[in-house]
Amino acid sequence: MKIAPAAAMLFHVLFVSIDGGACLARAETLSVSVSASSPSQGDPVLVEARADFPVDKAELAWKGRTVPMTAAGKGRYIALMGVDLGETPGKVPLSVLATTESIVMRSDLELTVVAREFPVQKLTLPKRMAEFDAATLERIRAEAGILEKIFSITSPPEWDMPFLRPVDDFRPTGFGARRVINGEPRSPHAAVDVHLPEGTPVSAIASGTVAFAGDQFFGGRSVVLDHGGGLFSLYYHLREFLVAEGRHVAKGERIGAVGSSGRATGPHLHFGVRAAGGRIDPSRLFGEAFR
Ligand SMILES: [Zn+2]
Repeated sequence: MKIAPAAAMLFHVLFVSIDGGACLARAETLSVSVSASSPSQGDPVLVEARADFPVDKAELAWKGRTVPMTAAGKGRYIALMGVDLGETPGKVPLSVLATTESIVMRSDLELTVVAREFPVQKLTLPKRMAEFDAATLERIRAEAGILEKIFSITSPPEWDMPFLRPVDDFRPTGFGARRVINGEPRSPHAAVDVHLPEGTPVSAIASGTVAFAGDQFFGGRSVVLDHGGGLFSLYYHLREFLVAEGRHVAKGERIGAVGSSGRATGPHLHFGVRAAGGRIDPSRLFGEAFR
């Protein structure tokens, strides 16, 4: 499949019959465009599909994951996918599936993921801060497991653009930093840190449901919001959170306050976003393409 470099428009249409019957050539068109055809590691990409026929369900398939697209006007569907910060640079296929009556129409395109330069942070910590006993390791693993389970569930899309910054004074730092602690490489920093005074209000970047509100070893008092369509936002090291799991929150609603709970050296907001499975640089959601 070819993508025009500038607009990344695609007009290729494939017909697949659900019941395995003969495919018929039809005149309908499913066109797909993306906000960036060569995104960098950690970039969100807005995928837009236009169908000139009635569609019952539109979905985006990417990296073995299928997420529902949001209806955004007549025959228009959008989805947000994220290029994981650890994605291998090179070509990655992407498909849009539009289901209508007994037919699934599919548009395939290909993105070219570009490597991004991430900072390296070398830290020397006292042994007791860098190494954990068996019980702590078990806790860390269990907490990671709970979150992975949350991220594996895709609810109906509820987010809309533009996204709101989680704090008024939003100066993000440290996305993707490769941490080397006492000479050992650790997981990259899959979020941004915003250094702010303790107690600074933190708000939801979009409407959604509280998928997690609790205490974690690393994240401290943490809130994870599920915005549907595979989009999640994470707020860690809070002094307190004001929402309970299962509760619905509106865009801009206050969910907690900046703190230094968990493993934090001082008050700051650790703010992360997952989009269709990818850990993205959340500051890029406030750019031109997502207004
Ligand atoms: Zn952080």
